[in-house]
Amino acid sequence: MSSLCDLTLAEARDGLAAKRFSALELTEAHIKAMEAARGLNAFVTETPDLARKIAAESDVRLKKGEAGPMEGLPIAIKDLFCTENVRTTACSRILENFVPPYESTVSANLKKAGAVMLGKTALDEFAMGSSNMTSHFGPVINPWKRAADTETKLVPGGSSGGSAAAVAARLALGATGTDTGGSIRQPAAFCGITGIKPTYGRCSRWGIIAFASSLDQAGPMARTVRDCAIMLGAMAGHDPKDSTSAPKPVPNFEAALTGDIRGLRIGIPKEYRPDGLSDEISALWEKGIAMLRDAGAEPVEISLPHTKYALATYYIIAPAECSSNLARYDGVRYGLRVEGSSLDEMYEKTRAAGFGKEVRRRILIGAYVLSAGYYDAYYAKAQKVRRLIAGDFTAAFEKVDAILTPTAPSAAFGLGETDDDPVTMWLNDVFTIPTSLAGLPGLSLPAGLSSEGLPLGLQLIGRPFDEETVLKVAGVLETAAGFKARPAVVEG
Ligand code: GLN
Repeated sequence: MSSLCDLTLAEARDGLAAKRFSALELTEAHIKAMEAARGLNAFVTETPDLARKIAAESDVRLKKGEAGPMEGLPIAIKDLFCTENVRTTACSRILENFVPPYESTVSANLKKAGAVMLGKTALDEFAMGSSNMTSHFGPVINPWKRAADTETKLVPGGSSGGSAAAVAARLALGATGTDTGGSIRQPAAFCGITGIKPTYGRCSRWGIIAFASSLDQAGPMARTVRDCAIMLGAMAGHDPKDSTSAPKPVPNFEAALTGDIRGLRIGIPKEYRPDGLSDEISALWEKGIAMLRDAGAEPVEISLPHTKYALATYYIIAPAECSSNLARYDGVRYGLRVEGSSLDEMYEKTRAAGFGKEVRRRILIGAYVLSAGYYDAYYAKAQKVRRLIAGDFTAAFEKVDAILTPTAPSAAFGLGETDDDPVTMWLNDVFTIPTSLAGLPGLSLPAGLSSEGLPLGLQLIGRPFDEETVLKVAGVLETAAGFKARPAVVEG
């Protein structure tokens, strides 16, 4: 059965269509894998019975020739997407027992397309983090190990680390992620899989627990570019319930994978070579540039001069929005409540007990930068810088069709190796955050291995709503890079 878990999402789809196996068989194989890999802690909630029920319904539709584009394909859903009657925690104690009475638009779209949900995957609490270590349910373990050190447990990246680990360990054919500053791309890079954060507005945010609303975007994580294209097609689309979702038709993303990138101009931003960038990451980037040149594209040096302000800008805007979004967890309507002798004390006790350290840190920063005395100095200034960062990309895209950069400054690190230092942790997103601030599509794909035998990712960035070019270039890079390695160790 395990070979069914080795199929790509596209191969599984084609296998179902050719009746080589049933949706139920495919689902059973993944349930078995999911249960055998509990040591990874990738899932917060497993829903095997629901998966079997949906798979059986899929088999009926497959038989009748009424299959949707994701019919019968077992996937995982990040535990930030509300799922009707299935516990949704955001990996926070404050939502530990929250069972939503409604379904997020993206997970509903996937359901409608026929996808089979295996369960809900772990994340950093409220998607704040780069390592999955801020989850209330304990860290997720990356299925990859260093070649010379199989003892050390590595982080899967974050915040969508449970999704990344599940896909890398062959527990699901694909998974949803969300990305506010890098949470799809950085864990994809750390786990050797592919993930795309689409343009802001491409997928509905309705029913996704909010972190920073002007940045949050859902996207697919899978093992190939084609799989991401298929899944994105099923997730995306205008939703009247989200006023920031774009009223744009959803293209056939899979059809964009023509393999022909001749004549495309690929921007190489000179500001993405900060002092101290490791030789390994530089070499990987050079390799990527050479591969695109060999395929007939033209690398062009570009400048994104405000890049150096991106991290600081993000760490004002994202906490500001988070402090406002998380004000709703007050112990009154739903979630955890800790009683107090007054209403104020009840709020204080509830929020102190319900939120972890990183979330509390962000709420404090956010409340500070929005406070009357500091609003103009911090928040209003950050909004202006954000505009300048977006403007850099607009200017660059007059000259180029896509941009190539590394995804993250390092390979996956060990649990606890960063000493819990928030700034070191925040630096992980130095290459992904500018794209988020500008609302652009960004994809990470595995392009090589580090000297320690760990996957390294390259990032492709595109024009607004031009995921097709991003996917097309990624498809060519994927073939050229020929990344076939897979995690050697899957914890039982
Ligand atoms: N690591 C970044 C943060 O902690 C990004 C998280 C995300 O994209 N959700 O905010």
